Amino acid sequence: MIDRRVIPRLGEEISRLGFGGMRFPKNGEEVDVDAAVSLLRKAYDMGINYFDTAVVYHKGESEKIFGKAFEIYDRSTYYLADKMSIWVCEDEQAMKDLFERQLKTLKTDYIDFYLVHSLNRNHYKKVKEFHCVEFLQEMKRQGKIKHLGFSFHDTYPVFTQILDDYDWDFVQIQLNYLDWQNQGAEQLYRELEKRHLPCMVMEPVRGGYLATLDEERAKPFLEMEPNRSIASWAIRWVSSLPQVAVVLSGMNTIEQLEDNVSLLTNFEPMNEKELEAVGKVVEAIRKVNDVPCTGCRYCMDCPMGVDIPEIFAIYSRYRIFDKVKSFVGDYKETVEHGNGAEHCVRCGQCMSHCPQSIQIPDKLAMIHQLYLDKKAELEAEEAQQAK
Ligand code: SF4
Ligand code: SF4
Repeated sequence: MIDRRVIPRLGEEISRLGFGGMRFPKNGEEVDVDAAVSLLRKAYDMGINYFDTAVVYHKGESEKIFGKAFEIYDRSTYYLADKMSIWVCEDEQAMKDLFERQLKTLKTDYIDFYLVHSLNRNHYKKVKEFHCVEFLQEMKRQGKIKHLGFSFHDTYPVFTQILDDYDWDFVQIQLNYLDWQNQGAEQLYRELEKRHLPCMVMEPVRGGYLATLDEERAKPFLEMEPNRSIASWAIRWVSSLPQVAVVLSGMNTIEQLEDNVSLLTNFEPMNEKELEAVGKVVEAIRKVNDVPCTGCRYCMDCPMGVDIPEIFAIYSRYRIFDKVKSFVGDYKETVEHGNGAEHCVRCGQCMSHCPQSIQIPDKLAMIHQLYLDKKAELEAEEAQQAK
């Protein structure tokens, strides 16, 4: 069974690993509901007791799957985390209706951990306008919420402002060994430490990126522990931080679940040598990836049909694996589906939602130009060979 720890500030005993319901297995475009339900139940059986969902995960399907998966269990044996995704609410009443709907969908009278979702300066304006936190505090007084927190994607000054404005029980941030210094995550973590606020961690493997490092970059890990998965280093690194209450992982296979659970059973924090290896890998990664997209898809849908996360994923694979033909082939497919970067009109809509503050139109233009250049190079090579 996975380790559980009492978090004194919350008075709750939480498993070190939490299940994030944003990347369930799929059958083509649709979520495979039966597979997702059995994965959640398997996680429960393995001792995971923290389950995190949101109305925007799998277009509302995730909450439904949670409702179905947990209806067979005693409500006091697991924690549900859900979120107010303010950007899907047209007005204050729609926000209140959404909360009530979430309770119904989850088939519960209360939500253990409720978060104001993905706070950045834009979403926070709307949160204030709709008196969102005041409403959620009232829900807490009525017993419909046990602990109130927020998840965050912006800069340090915005973070401290939000922390100062309200009395929070916990906070969820993106934390992994790559973002620690790269994206200023250390500063956010230290602030939580200073305020004694439990830290829930999302993106411990950075949307899967830290699970798929190539051999060259992962060399320090492979030399030290050849049989250990690359992803395990990311999970263990973040779990070694003392202020971390739970690490969320969006698992979609039994193997991933078993691997993660085994890592956090009889857990020992990383030692100096292991931390040194992580430092070397960070250096190696920093040299190549200049678009820190996590694939969260908050920027979607683009009104011009540009598939932003897909294009960044294709580019990221190219930067890591340096396979020109795959890059050109994959990107060409996106263009042929009408989702290429050439359709971007620089309206800027996507950027206000991007937690990573990526200059999306500029990066898209750069990638499209790279595609045109590489395609021309390949065609010239082929023409040369045909002579
Ligand atoms: S800036 Fe470009 S990619 Fe972003 S939403 Fe507008 S058209 Fe789409
Ligand atoms: S570009 Fe930003 S918002 Fe879009 S998927 Fe990547 S990280 Fe998420």
